[in-house]
Amino acid sequence: MSPGLLGRTPKSLRVGLAKLVRPTPKALSAGIRGREIERLERHGKLLMLKMAGSGVWAIHLGMTGQVILAETKPKVKHVHITVGFDDDGPNLYFRDPRQFGFMAWCPDRASLEAGPLANMGPDALGMDQALFLERLSGRGGKLKSLLLDQRVLAGVGNIYADESLHRAGLNPLSRPCDLSQEQLCNLHDHLQETLNEALARGGSSVSNFVDAHGRPGTFQHAHRVYKRGGQPCPACGAPIERIVVAGRSTHFCPHCQK
Ligand SMILES: [Zn+2]
Repeated sequence: MSPGLLGRTPKSLRVGLAKLVRPTPKALSAGIRGREIERLERHGKLLMLKMAGSGVWAIHLGMTGQVILAETKPKVKHVHITVGFDDDGPNLYFRDPRQFGFMAWCPDRASLEAGPLANMGPDALGMDQALFLERLSGRGGKLKSLLLDQRVLAGVGNIYADESLHRAGLNPLSRPCDLSQEQLCNLHDHLQETLNEALARGGSSVSNFVDAHGRPGTFQHAHRVYKRGGQPCPACGAPIERIVVAGRSTHFCPHCQK
């Protein structure tokens, strides 16, 4: 049985780290307790739970946030928030080692747009080629940094950036302004393919991308470069290199991704 979140009614909120809740734990508690979750939406790494009556319970996964549904508190570090439900089913645990994620209570659409959704680029998943080109063409930043920048595209995590760059044969340090339209279109197609594959496999556990059911993903078994530094590239056999771009560990094949 997987009750997920839809149709369930929060009963309790326990916050271990108040700075992860906006505007305050008290406001979030008053907003969600006793209200059924009517609809689930996602934009990039932001989960939006529309509550019965009015208001949205927003959960932003940030860089390393994770939503876990479990009967008992997972035996892992960095679980900061616990939400219990009136059906006494699995609790929702919010875990976030790097604390860039947060939960917010948004009483209306305007507060959602001015708050958690502000400055967020269009959702990368399902984005068409024209919009992808519009967001990236001619830009002078490093390709990997731009892919991770949630203001440019929302929802591309570190693993998905590395994997799609490898599939597209593009160096993470290359700049869109030096690339042809064909190369960018090719990257678009591989990014969509990677994101869809990850979604079909339930996300990638190690990326902390967990769906609203908290199911562990199996996408990590399909990694071609991510966390495979020193191992042979599956395409050419050259050793995969690890560098740091935008503060994130980046894996690529120097032979296939010149
Ligand atoms: Zn290679």
